[in-house]
Amino acid sequence: MTDPVVVVRGLRKRYGGLDAVAGIDLEIRRGEIFAFLGPNGAGKTTTVEILEGFRERTEGEVSVLGVDPAHAGPQWRNRVGAVLQESSPEFGLTVRESLELYAGYYEAPRDIEETIRLVGLDEKADTLGPQLSGGQRRRLDVALALIGDPELIFLDEPTTGFDPSARRTAWHVISGLRELGKTVFLTTHYMDEAENLADRIAVIAGGRIVAEGTPGTLGGRNRMAATIAFSLPEGTSADDLPEELRALVADAGERVTLATDAPLVHVRALADWALARGLDLPDLDVRRPTLEDVYLELTEAPA
Ligand code: ATP
Repeated sequence: MTDPVVVVRGLRKRYGGLDAVAGIDLEIRRGEIFAFLGPNGAGKTTTVEILEGFRERTEGEVSVLGVDPAHAGPQWRNRVGAVLQESSPEFGLTVRESLELYAGYYEAPRDIEETIRLVGLDEKADTLGPQLSGGQRRRLDVALALIGDPELIFLDEPTTGFDPSARRTAWHVISGLRELGKTVFLTTHYMDEAENLADRIAVIAGGRIVAEGTPGTLGGRNRMAATIAFSLPEGTSADDLPEELRALVADAGERVTLATDAPLVHVRALADWALARGLDLPDLDVRRPTLEDVYLELTEAPA
């Protein structure tokens, strides 16, 4: 199933003299988790709110589940779920009661107890919304977005303020949505979240899409050099390294950094060199560029 659920062509949103969204194209397929990344003020929320039908656009074509959200009716709204950046729990209602209330708005809602279990709020089902912790409230937000059994779910920074273990639980829930055949449009500032969850990522900066790809290939990540870093043992200098490694030195400060397309070969050359001299390299570190490295490079403001 690869039919597009979201199609955006030439989308523009102007606020006065500012092009908050400056002509973007997007296509999101059914059943995928799509992550939309970008610095503060890049245009993410503006785009998401246009797709949700909450904000008018200046120009461009938008189709969400085959419908233009600017002219969508209640039936379309039932097919779309959203977790917004800000939310306030229903005053005076428990988790279960909030879900019962929201379930009443939909023709074919999900099972309430199962939804509570899905977001891991079983032990808090009878707790009043305002008495939940920040992370638990966010889980309730996710449950409320899911209760109508939508096909497409917008999650705007869904794990902000979560502790590391709650974040893992949330990731589990979000991956579970993919298994249920749902399409997820996720915005996040956490690169590990995008790396773990997304099938595809688009990066927006200054209202323009600057890169698109899988977590592994975004911005040419798969073609970028790996680095080998280590501190030189006492009594040695970078000049003592074998010729083939000297040619790779990218930084010879306190720690030496080598940039290489063949990390295995060069780690072996380095290990052979050290072992032959009875030297140790206790802080040896070999790594590929992380998604965060690539993201920072893509979104760095031009000097
Ligand atoms: P964040 O990561 O901080 O949530 P974002 O990528 O979601 O940022 P947007 O909220 O879409 O960014 O804002 C994009 C730009 O549009 C910003 O420069 C913002 O100041 C501006 N903007 C947003 N809403 C309005 C508005 N209602 N009127 C005028 N300018 C706005």
